[in-house]
This record gives sequence, C-alpha cells and structure tokens, in this order.
Amino acid sequence: MTKEKFIHDSETVLKFIQYFCDHKHQNKDKIDDALILNYNDEDLNIQINYSLCKECEHTLLYSYEKLQECPFQEKPSCRKCTTPCYDRLEWKRSAKIMKYSGMKLGLVKIRKMFRIGK
Ligand SMILES: [Zn+2]
Repeated sequence: MTKEKFIHDSETVLKFIQYFCDHKHQNKDKIDDALILNYNDEDLNIQINYSLCKECEHTLLYSYEKLQECPFQEKPSCRKCTTPCYDRLEWKRSAKIMKYSGMKLGLVKIRKMFRIGK
C-alpha cells in the first residue's frame, strides 16, 4: 500500500467510525484522544483527533492495526481478500459501522471496499 493510500484509508475509517458514534452513541461516555499515523515504522507526523465511546475506539484501533498490517501493495477489497485478517466479530461490527456511515455520507467507495449491500 502506498503511503498516500494508507493515510487516506486511515482518515476514512476514522471519519466513518466518528460519524457512527456521533449519531448512535450520543449518550455514551466519550474518550478524547488521537490517532498518530505510523507507516512502516515511519512517523508521518499526522495526528487525527477523535472523540469516541470505548467500543468504537476499540473498533478504530483494531481497524487501524489491520490497515497497518495489510501486506498488499495494492490493497484489494477486503471481501475479495485471499487472506482476510479481521476476526468474525470485529468484521461484523466494522461492517455495521461502514454500512451506516457509508449510506449517510454517500461515499460509495468504502462501501465497495467492504462490499455491503448492492
Ligand atoms: Zn460509539
């Protein structure tokens, strides 16, 4: 994966989870923190702030970790991946978030990445 793609995907994942949490978990306690982007051990000097509940923060950190570990130069759609790296439960949770935010934000691209709906 190129550095640019990595940054873009990280930002997109966070944006989607943040949107979901803002709309679905208004009443939960939020943790204010930031994701500091690291790519192949290189500090990118990019910090993305978030305010998420504990559960969504977990999903974010999990997804981010998987993104970092993605072994492909050209990241395939996760659904088509020959070596899927998400465990089932995490996948279901992420898919739910991506579906909700994807529809609301109207970004078709990520929905394709996760292959949700038609
Ligand atoms: Zn949440």
